[in-house]
Amino acid sequence: MSRRQLPFFENVTIIDAGAEGKAVARVNDMVVFVPFCVPGDIVDIQVISKRKSYCEGKAIKFHHYSELRVEPFCEHFGTCGGCRWQNLSYEQQLKYKQKQIDDHFTRIGKFPFPPIKPILASPLTTGYRNKLEYTFSDRRWLNADDMALPDDERQSNGLGFHIPTLFDRVLDIKHCYHQPEPSNAIRLAVRDFTLQKGWSFYNPRSHEGFMRNLLIRNTLAGDWMVIVVFAYEAPEEVSQLMTFIADSFPQITSLIYVINTKQNDTITDQEMRLWKGLPYITEVLEAPVEGGRKLQFRIGPVSFYQTNPHQAYYLYKTAFDLADFKGDELVYDLYCGTGTITNFVAPYVKKAVGVEYVPSAIDDAHINSELNNIENTVYYAGDLAKVLNAEFVIQNGRPDVIITDPPRNGMHENVVKQILEIEPQKVVYVSCNPATQARDIALMIEKYEVTAVQPVDMFPHTHHVENVVLLTKR
Ligand code: SAH
Repeated sequence: MSRRQLPFFENVTIIDAGAEGKAVARVNDMVVFVPFCVPGDIVDIQVISKRKSYCEGKAIKFHHYSELRVEPFCEHFGTCGGCRWQNLSYEQQLKYKQKQIDDHFTRIGKFPFPPIKPILASPLTTGYRNKLEYTFSDRRWLNADDMALPDDERQSNGLGFHIPTLFDRVLDIKHCYHQPEPSNAIRLAVRDFTLQKGWSFYNPRSHEGFMRNLLIRNTLAGDWMVIVVFAYEAPEEVSQLMTFIADSFPQITSLIYVINTKQNDTITDQEMRLWKGLPYITEVLEAPVEGGRKLQFRIGPVSFYQTNPHQAYYLYKTAFDLADFKGDELVYDLYCGTGTITNFVAPYVKKAVGVEYVPSAIDDAHINSELNNIENTVYYAGDLAKVLNAEFVIQNGRPDVIITDPPRNGMHENVVKQILEIEPQKVVYVSCNPATQARDIALMIEKYEVTAVQPVDMFPHTHHVENVVLLTKR
C-alpha cells in the first residue's frame, strides 16, 4: 500500500503516553501509535503503517498542545532516539510509568494485585548514566540547517548516536545530558582532534574508515574508563590519539583501545589493549542495612553494571527489603549478571546461588565475591532454561527465596515451570519490562499471590520502567 492510500486522521486527541515510547490515540477502535506527542495534544495524524489491530502514525499538524507538555531541555530532542519523554514533566513521566504497570497487570496479567506502591523517583534525572557508546560515521544525519549549506561547507563526519531505525545514520551530538562531565568534553575533544587530523570516520555500508566507536564509562566512586575502537592497525595514529586523551583528561583511570577489523561493532570478542591505568573501573555500593559493609564491584570493559548507579542501590534495596531475610535462607539469584544482587544479599543469608549465561559475567561475579570477602556464594554459567532442573536443586538445595531479574523478553517457560516445581516461599521478580513480567506472573498465579508491587524509575526521560514484585506462596 502506498503512503497515499494510508488513512489520514484529523483532530485526534492523544490519550496515553504509551508503552514503547510512542504516545497513543484511538480512532474508531483502532489504536494509533504516534511518537513525540503527549496526552492531551490534539493532532492530525498521517498513518505510515497499518496492521490488523493497530497502526503507526506521524503527527502532521498540532491543533492543540497539551498542558502536560514541558519544553525539552536537549537540542537533539526529536531526532535522537534517547530521551523521548523529555516533553513531559518528570512528575508526569512517573505517573505514566506507574500507569503502564497497572495497565499491563490488568490487561495482560489479569491477576489480582495490591495497590501499586508509588514509583521511586531517580535521585538524578540528568547525568545519571554511567555508560555511553558513541559511533563515528562519515554520513552523519543532516538537519534542515545543514542541508541549506553549500556541499563543500557541510561536514559529513559525525560522532554520536545512531538515528533510530537507520543503522547507517549517526546524529552528531553537541551535548548529551545523560552522563556527568567530562563525558561531553572527552567526546568533543576526540571528535575535534580526529577531524583536524583529517582521519576518516567509519562507513558501515562500505566498511571503510578508521575511527569506529568511543565508549565512556564511569563510577560513582570517581573512576573513568574510555575505550576507543579503531578499524585497523595504525600504531602511529593510535599513539597520537591515545596520548592526546591521556594528557587532556588525567581523571581517566582506565584508557583502552581496540582494533576491530570485523564488519560488526561488537567488541565483546575483541582484545582490549590497555594504554594507561587499570583494565577495569571500580564501583561502590552501599549496604542494604545500616552499619553493613559497603561492597565493591569491578567493572571490566564489557562487564554489565546497572546504567543508573544512583538508583541501582534503591532497586536492589527494594528487592532485599521485599525478601525480608531472617539470615538462614538459601537464595537463588537467577539472571545474576556479574553477581551484583547475589553479593548484595549474600552477607545476610546462609548461601546465595547465582546463575547467568554469559561466562565472562560469571568470572566477574566470582571476582566480586572475592573482592568483598564473601564466601557463601556459588555461580553457574549456563542457559537457565536448561540449567535450572531437578538435578540442579538436588545439588544446590531447595531455595527459600528466588530472586529473578530476566532481560526484556522475560523468563523462559521452562524457568517458570521449574520455579513452580521448586516452590520457594518467596519469589522476588525484578523486571525491566512489565508486559513480560505480567505474562510470567500469570503463569504462576495459582501457586503464588502478588503481595507487593514497587516500580522503580531507572531511566528518567525515557519510557523504560523497572518493576519489583513480591510473590508469596499461597
Ligand atoms: N541482575 C543483574 C543483571 C540482570 S540483566 C544486575 O542487576 O546486574 C539480565 C541478565 O540475564 C543478563 O546478564 C543476561 O546475560 C542474562 N541472561 C539472559 N538470558 C539468559 C538465559 N537464558 N539464561 C541465563 N542468563 C540469561
